[in-house]
Amino acid sequence: MKTDAEQLKFVVAFATDDLDTYRTGDWQNLRDDLQVFLQGGLRDGESIPHRAGQEHFVSSERVAKAPEESLRTLRNEVAGLLDRCVALRDAHSQGRERGFNEVAGRPFDVSVRKTLITVENDIAGVVEGRLRDVVLEKVYQLLIRNPIRPLRRCPVCGRIFYRVKKKQYCRRKCFVTAWLSTSEGKKSKRTTDREYAKKIRRARAVSRPWPTTQAEAGTASSEGSAKDGKTKGTRGR
Ligand SMILES: [Zn+2]
Repeated sequence: MKTDAEQLKFVVAFATDDLDTYRTGDWQNLRDDLQVFLQGGLRDGESIPHRAGQEHFVSSERVAKAPEESLRTLRNEVAGLLDRCVALRDAHSQGRERGFNEVAGRPFDVSVRKTLITVENDIAGVVEGRLRDVVLEKVYQLLIRNPIRPLRRCPVCGRIFYRVKKKQYCRRKCFVTAWLSTSEGKKSKRTTDREYAKKIRRARAVSRPWPTTQAEAGTASSEGSAKDGKTKGTRGR
């Protein structure tokens, strides 16, 4: 999760995942991922190798012990932020690519302490605060620093997703729904349905039950043609 794009993908996944399906292991993975997101994979309490010109986000609460309820609340706040970001972009962009800061002020309150430290004769920033505050601050920083073009709202279900290549829908299910609503899709579905119905009717018409294997089906038809051949032969003589 080193690049901004990778971090934004994580933020979108966090904001749109169905937390109600999470088991204990999933919650722990989420805590680990949040830790990586904030501190580049360092464990709680490990000191950060500061790098000049960068900002470092430090949670005053242990991420590994974050309660489910506060993660749910945080998830909802992050989702709200993404929603607002995409809504504003869609309402204002008029074809021009903008960052979030051009269309919105900071839409939430956070309490973080920002300090500057000297590293290698240069300066790095340290952002400290409660887990919720540093995560929101970091998400906000990502949104204002990057073009938000890859963030899309799925036209079928309304979920926000990170667009990769020319993907237009958040998942395959939505792609299929959209395809089936086009006239081409409807036509294709009608044809498929008709063929299916035809096959079922044919199968019912045969007194014998379904052939159990492909081989059996093949044998049955070749026997038929062999018999036909014989009959013709006899008639010929
Ligand atoms: Zn969708």
